[in-house]
Amino acid sequence: MISEHLRAIDFNKKLKSWYLKNHRPLLWRQTTDPYKIWLSEIILQQTRVAQGTPYYQKFLDNYPTVFDLANADERDVLRLWQGLGYYSRARNMHFTARQIVNDFGGKFPETAAALSKLKGLGHYTAAAIASFAFGEAVAAIDGNVYRVMARIFGIKSDMLSNEGKKEFAAIAKELVSHEDPATYNQAMIEFGAIQCVPVSPNCAICPFNDICYAFAFNVQNALPVKSKKMAVKKRFLNYFVIQQGQDLAMQERKTKDIWKGLYDFYLIESAGPVESPDELPENQTLQTFLMKGNLREVPKSYIHLLTHQKLHVQFWWIKIRDEESVDLPIGLKFFSKNEIETLPKPILIDTLLKEEKYL
Ligand code: SF4
Repeated sequence: MISEHLRAIDFNKKLKSWYLKNHRPLLWRQTTDPYKIWLSEIILQQTRVAQGTPYYQKFLDNYPTVFDLANADERDVLRLWQGLGYYSRARNMHFTARQIVNDFGGKFPETAAALSKLKGLGHYTAAAIASFAFGEAVAAIDGNVYRVMARIFGIKSDMLSNEGKKEFAAIAKELVSHEDPATYNQAMIEFGAIQCVPVSPNCAICPFNDICYAFAFNVQNALPVKSKKMAVKKRFLNYFVIQQGQDLAMQERKTKDIWKGLYDFYLIESAGPVESPDELPENQTLQTFLMKGNLREVPKSYIHLLTHQKLHVQFWWIKIRDEESVDLPIGLKFFSKNEIETLPKPILIDTLLKEEKYL
């Protein structure tokens, strides 16, 4: 609980005055439209503002209302999202747009409790929309806010544990402004994003340095406490780019794995690195491709990092000889250059095709 000398009202006054002087004029701050706020919040999860802003603009240009997004084809939504990563966010967003249109007549629910029942909306996003759009006095606690609270109030509980979350939530509930919850939440988030930053915050100019626990005990780097991250899994993806004339064989990824809904090439995953297709387990389809086409011996190799996976990716290019034709296995299909341009693809595949001057 916050101490007597630090009444929520004083805290909020200081916070608001800092915010009014220092905040960045971000596009989505200038609206109370829940659709725009929701869009910005989903795009900005795990994404920096500079990277997310053009996507926010692109989505609004293409889908100005929740009805437009609901009516869109998932493939187009994924294509627009391409490059942002974490594609399940785009799929959930599209699903939720349809739910809002079909179940709520296109109107967003107005409370955090009701919003958090929608797919892809956690407590934070629900609270952000409820307070920014509808003025509900609920605290929106994102990673920035956890850091600010842990440091100022000296909270040492693990922010990812259930107990920790409860402790943070209880203090946040005391702090949140009932007069202007939208500005309070924006200010807390912004304060964490640009003042109380993860590494080397400039505490000398901080308006809370007189009451901040972390500053007093010089433990800024130790707070907040977070449990150890999940181990990063290594994966070895061996792609075969099958080219017939100008067309390439691609398939939609349908299994519950990375890049679901995006298009990639014929893939054989191996337990470790391979230097030649001969080292892969016997595979009839690959044998046929190799028999009927010319293999470019040296693959293009990339290392691609995802949150919990390190992908070692190789692309081997096989050009089917003009006199041959191949039957593709179920799922794979030849696409023309123009079609490939419009397909949603993992950014790595887009990069490869550009480096190969195919696109
Ligand atoms: S004094 Fe430093 S650690 Fe404390 S809130 Fe300010 S910037 Fe963060």
